[in-house]
Amino acid sequence: MQKTIERIAGDSEGVAYELPVLRFEGKDKAAPSAYLQAALHAGELPGVVAIDALMPMLAKAEAESRIRGPITIVPWANPIGRAQYHFGEHQGRFNLGTRTNFNRSFPLLATPDARLLPDISLGGADRRLKNRLVQLSLGNDIVLDLHCDDEGLAYLYIHTSLWPHMADCAAAMGIDAVVLWSDDTDGTFEGASIMPYQNAPANVARFDRRAVTTVEYRGILDVDAALAASDAEGLYRLLVTRGVIQDPSIPKFETFSGPVVPLENIDMMPSPRAGAILYDVKPGDRVKNGDRLATIVHAPGEAGGRTEVFAPQSGLILTRRARRIIRAGEDLLKLAGDARSGDARSGTLED
Ligand SMILES: [Zn+2]
Repeated sequence: MQKTIERIAGDSEGVAYELPVLRFEGKDKAAPSAYLQAALHAGELPGVVAIDALMPMLAKAEAESRIRGPITIVPWANPIGRAQYHFGEHQGRFNLGTRTNFNRSFPLLATPDARLLPDISLGGADRRLKNRLVQLSLGNDIVLDLHCDDEGLAYLYIHTSLWPHMADCAAAMGIDAVVLWSDDTDGTFEGASIMPYQNAPANVARFDRRAVTTVEYRGILDVDAALAASDAEGLYRLLVTRGVIQDPSIPKFETFSGPVVPLENIDMMPSPRAGAILYDVKPGDRVKNGDRLATIVHAPGEAGGRTEVFAPQSGLILTRRARRIIRAGEDLLKLAGDARSGDARSGTLED
């Protein structure tokens, strides 16, 4: 394993950011290559500790000469967000200087050619970081962006062009659910990793061996050694299943038996009132149309001071908020419905 340090110039003299890049060489030129990054939203740590648990498995494979394709790993993808504290609380989702989400405004290239990246020499540190992450990842057959939700199941976002080809990946990772999407107007990292291939010739696109996904490793508090170990095993099985690592002890994965839900089926359930949330449901619950999902306590102790929220359709509770305070119009949860949502959103689900 080789470690290098990437340096991203800051927005003022004397400020710079660093991120480590860990690389394993592959011995087989024809084998698929893999890129993994974690904590693009800097405070989302389940993927960081999963990578930490994965490294000894990769080191063993390297020592035994079983790494076929090159592997690039960026365990802390966002040193800018990692350093952002606002009134004592960590803020890793938006750049405090620009209000831009760290997982939006990536360049969506017309073809998979990093030379097409915009000139950002004067463009701000987060744009320099985004360009660099695209340079590091573009061209890899497997690109995994490890995130987490507030509270949630382990699920994957996958572009429709890669489904069902990626059913083996979802099965190997031991994921609970898959959400399929087709439009990216916001420039997510995943979009920047897969959209350049949409109009590429078949011998470049290679959707049969390409794997690109945003991995949502449950909730923000799901950072512990046991989950890290099982997620690392899932990542390792994916790398073996896709031929990046050789390991005959790992069985072949092909079919995924969990729910596969189009993005437009997801009901985000905007809260009708501001207040305290009393949830009736948690991630993993099945609900029926009309079931109560939550009660919002907006005028405590007063008649009419509670407002109930009911499921608009049957489905699976994918996520819910970690904090129980909410403003009117903010989303209560993700209900992966059995049918198209009346509130279907195009592009990304959240800001
Ligand atoms: Zn995230």
